[in-house]
Amino acid sequence: CGVFGLYSPVPNDLAWLTYLGMFALQHRGQEAAGMCVSDGDKFHVEKDLGLVTQVFDERRLDSVRLPNARVSIGHVRYSTTGSNLRFNSQPLTTRTNKGILGLAHNGNFVNALEVRTEMLHEGALFATTNDSEVMLNLIARESQMDLVAATAAAMKRLRGGYACVLMSRTGLIGFRDPHGVRPLVIGQREDGAWALASEPCALYAVGARLIRDVQPGELVYFDRDGLHSLMVEPRQPTPCSFEWIYFARSDSKIDGVDTHESRIRMGMQLAREKPVDADVVVPVPDSGMGAAIGYARESGIPFDYGLYKNPYAGRTFIAPSQEARELKVKMKLSPTSAVRGKRVVLIDDSIVRGTTSRQIVNLLREAGATEVHFRVSSPPITHPCFYGIDTAARKELVASTHSVEEIRELIGADTLAFISEPGLRQAIGGQGMCGACFTGHYPAGTPLLNDVDKLA
Ligand code: 5GP
Ligand code: SF4
Ligand code: MG
Repeated sequence: CGVFGLYSPVPNDLAWLTYLGMFALQHRGQEAAGMCVSDGDKFHVEKDLGLVTQVFDERRLDSVRLPNARVSIGHVRYSTTGSNLRFNSQPLTTRTNKGILGLAHNGNFVNALEVRTEMLHEGALFATTNDSEVMLNLIARESQMDLVAATAAAMKRLRGGYACVLMSRTGLIGFRDPHGVRPLVIGQREDGAWALASEPCALYAVGARLIRDVQPGELVYFDRDGLHSLMVEPRQPTPCSFEWIYFARSDSKIDGVDTHESRIRMGMQLAREKPVDADVVVPVPDSGMGAAIGYARESGIPFDYGLYKNPYAGRTFIAPSQEARELKVKMKLSPTSAVRGKRVVLIDDSIVRGTTSRQIVNLLREAGATEVHFRVSSPPITHPCFYGIDTAARKELVASTHSVEEIRELIGADTLAFISEPGLRQAIGGQGMCGACFTGHYPAGTPLLNDVDKLA
């Protein structure tokens, strides 16, 4: 998912700016979109299933617009917990003794179901199966505390990987999990308006410049006096490596590491670790682009445009069913003449289920590639993500049940090789990172209960 928030000391068209910020984060979730806007008195909410441009047509955007808006938040969703239903879309709102609150959330709380079960036994009410509601309920319960203290208390209670934006009628809060697994950045516009976003690309979209990342375990809030910070629970930083491998946009920079540059380094590392004799380096667009540039640069094999990507097709992975994903690959990708008669090094960022990869190899062979050497800029994904990236259940992960040689055979490549885990760490270059989906070592814990839709 993607989250976005604005706090403006001067009246601003925040509905429009929030729309722009959400649009820049569309790659982080295409299932639902929503926003809240307040002017200190009125509090408007609109959300629905669909893309940002589908949900917010002119009429709908007008309905949340407030001429003197001061605070807003936005969310784009793809479901990791809670099914893809309208009532599960975000922001979630509720009325508390601190006034009406809106929350938008990226990531997962691994102990949300335990906390939720406890709260149900104490008589709490829940309207959704969304784990964001647990967070909101925890905040509402601390009726003796002010909003910032109550939010900090809720952060201490929930574990996992998350980045959230929370608004009242008059204030904006942002907070990031203790390990900083999910990203969150702070920006500011020239008119003084503050912005929070999952990625810097959304700051640039609203004319804000990147000020800094929210730190792991940090809570920031904005009011008339500007930016305030509270270190609630900082731990060893382990930001999600998948943000750099695949998820984040290539014009974003997270925790000081530029996404595009890190992908180039991954490709260069891959070329050093897993070289091959070939005629042309071809990326699987768009996610394999950076790594392919790096592989070509390091190996000296020419880079070429071997796969056309239909720009009107969305991200295939996020299509909800296997069949939908398979059909969407053909809608999306088609080989060009650049591969005919060539030994191709095909570069992609990841192999998850292996189904897309198999179809792509097939497409290249049909188009006349004489050899297809598959190189992957992430290590084999052997474990599920519990922190908000939908890398599928363990049994669907092809690398959790197959060796590299078996995967090679399955996808029909001449050779197949992945970047090593240390090689990936080196390419990203940060101090720490989460690589749990490659190693099974979960820095922010694992869930005890995991079957959300079976619960009350
Ligand atoms: P597969 O061959 O495993 O079916 O598909 C691999 C492709 O899925 C890669 O091109 C990768 O970019 C893409 N992909 C799309 N969304 C996701 C996601 O959420 N997680 C992961 N791990 N890969 C994804
Ligand atoms: Fe990212 Fe993988 Fe860790 Fe999930 S398990 S947060 S996808 S590195
Ligand atoms: Mg891809």
